[in-house]
Amino acid sequence: MDSEQLREYGHRMVDFIADYYKTIETFPVRSQVQPGYLHNLLPESAPDHPETVEQVLDDVKEKILPGVTHWQSPTFFAYYPANSSVAGFLGEMLSAGLGIVGFSWVSSPAATELEMIVLDWLAKLLNLPEQFLSKGNGGGVIQGTASEAILVVLIAARDKVLRSVGKKALEKLVVYSSDQTHSSLLKACQIAGIHLENCRMLKTDSSTNYALRPESLQEAVSKDLEAGLIPFFLCGTVGTTSSTAVDPLAALGKIAKSNEIWFHVDAAYAGSACICPEYRQYLDGVETADSFNMNAHKWFLTNFDCSLLWVKDQYALTEALSTNPEYLKNKPSQANLVVDYKDWQIPLGRRFRSLKLWMVLRLYGAETLKSYIRNHIKLAKDLEQLVSQDPNFEVVTPSIFSLVCFRMVPVDNDEKTCNNRNRNLLEAVNSSGKLFISHTTLSGKFVLRFAIGAPLTEAKHVKEAWKVIQEKASYLLASQVK
Ligand code: PLP
Repeated sequence: MDSEQLREYGHRMVDFIADYYKTIETFPVRSQVQPGYLHNLLPESAPDHPETVEQVLDDVKEKILPGVTHWQSPTFFAYYPANSSVAGFLGEMLSAGLGIVGFSWVSSPAATELEMIVLDWLAKLLNLPEQFLSKGNGGGVIQGTASEAILVVLIAARDKVLRSVGKKALEKLVVYSSDQTHSSLLKACQIAGIHLENCRMLKTDSSTNYALRPESLQEAVSKDLEAGLIPFFLCGTVGTTSSTAVDPLAALGKIAKSNEIWFHVDAAYAGSACICPEYRQYLDGVETADSFNMNAHKWFLTNFDCSLLWVKDQYALTEALSTNPEYLKNKPSQANLVVDYKDWQIPLGRRFRSLKLWMVLRLYGAETLKSYIRNHIKLAKDLEQLVSQDPNFEVVTPSIFSLVCFRMVPVDNDEKTCNNRNRNLLEAVNSSGKLFISHTTLSGKFVLRFAIGAPLTEAKHVKEAWKVIQEKASYLLASQVK
């Protein structure tokens, strides 16, 4: 590492990125390239000799940026946001700069200790129950993604139950969630060896705004018990991916508790909102949960990746995931004086990710973060109103956080044509390059998802985006494109 070269190139790179942000609105939000475009632009093999930073940055401008979908654009409204920020960026840079691998305490004590402290800070901001704090048996850990968070708690729960009923019972284990739960749960079941026919994705509908009904859970659990199966894991969601449905945690948790089922709460997207006292109600009942996750990399100004997981019983995790090879043995670990995060996750190696969350919390402070969230929710409410005022459109589910789910209304109750028209509208809007939205289906309806949450988004961006959607819709209706 040549420090002076780093200084020179680093400054140039920061300038490049700052200029990117200054001009971000000039790019089509969704990349418009065709599959395989880059193969034609780059050489067949790596260079034999060094090239200059200028050459590489020129290629980034000419060849890479056209193939980039601009997630940080103020008119990126697809999926869920993946926030970047100055603080998050600086933390990421510092982490890369220090270049440590903090798998065990001794491999970089500050990495483990800062992670514990920052997760305690956030647990307090979310008003999570004390058992999730690191001072007792619980604690928080940063995973790469919510998918990994769900996988590790599923494995912990699986091993816990198998320790008491015997390993042969694996085929009897049953998992519960709603049909709105993120697909990462099913993937986790596949990896953990849970039989897919034992995964109960319980049906939801518009009568509960797609939240899981406790009666559905109770009924399914009773049926499985009667059949000699072993209910062992329930995943509730606060803010589902399709429509931000909120499962009734307290009632679900009660059923889980009385049946010794591990209760996990996935608040990957909406958890961030719950630092605001007025939205904390959506976490009511989290005290009945065994584990809880939220993605700071979605809507909390912390660059990807930074998924936060809290558990009440860290030993359930470590019993399932610990390894103790000779080459990693050290005194503090052997004496049980420290946390070794390698035993709370799938990989061994881990980055110093707490730095960026720490930077975000310190450089912005909780009050700024709350205002940031509230502003997006207000923008979503304003958009919801605009949608409801337009007779060509309808709001499909009430907007709770910063997602608006809507569609063009059917003509003459023709749902099939309506779905096609909305699909065409999605493509027309996204091909314009002016904004990027995504879709889902709810009760067979093709629904457009408009998720507000990019740090640069202001009211004018939402209004202009809505105008584009209205124009494209009018064109489709006038030309009777089905
Ligand atoms: N859970 C929910 C509710 C989500 O919305 C998502 C992604 O959008 C995930 C889990 C998966 O997140 P990740 O990409 O961090 O695995």
